[in-house]
Amino acid sequence: MSAVASPARLPVRRRTVALAGGGVEVRHLVPCAASGGASPLAECGTCARCLAMPAAPDDAVAEVLCRRDLGEPRASSSGLPRVQLDLVELALRTPVRDVVRPDVLAAHADVSIRAARALLGGAEAILVVDAEARPRGVVRASTLASADVEPEASLASVAMPLAGSVRDDTALVHTLAALGDGDGAVLPVVDDDGALLAVLTAADVVRWLAKRAGYEL
Ligand code: SF4
Repeated sequence: MSAVASPARLPVRRRTVALAGGGVEVRHLVPCAASGGASPLAECGTCARCLAMPAAPDDAVAEVLCRRDLGEPRASSSGLPRVQLDLVELALRTPVRDVVRPDVLAAHADVSIRAARALLGGAEAILVVDAEARPRGVVRASTLASADVEPEASLASVAMPLAGSVRDDTALVHTLAALGDGDGAVLPVVDDDGALLAVLTAADVVRWLAKRAGYEL
């Protein structure tokens, strides 16, 4: 008798981009295997594969129930309790999308330091993106907070290059070397077009590990 596959529970990501001309653009995105990229949440609502939409898209655990994975193997389908798996094997079986947080903050290159500071909140960094939301650099919170930085200067003037980027179905284990290379590396998570979906940091991996170890976070 064949096993009945479960629908995929797809996290809703909120991407906030500060625009060069002022204001922000907020988009709710869902990683969509059918389209090969990220679908705007509204498209899921009209899609025949959608089984359930989130009541509150801004909720940290908001997700879409999607039939896209019916019949396909899932990351947790080994039959073994995850707690019994070796950590490296577990990191090999865990896609990045299961580790990243739902919010990502970005801004166009000519947004000012002052405007970026106002948006930052508790974020560790702000991604600098082009007009198609493709990551081009990163500015850390510590840089934004520095008294040496001119508030009216552009983000481009203080942005650091990125170590690369990964798709959200990349196995976590394949990101570890990049995250460990340098002080607080930030890896953008992108769709097939290279547009920003989320961001992965070493802190996200530690948080994921702590949860696997049973800590309440
Ligand atoms: S419900 Fe449709 S549009 Fe949304 S993720 Fe699934 S296949 Fe893509």
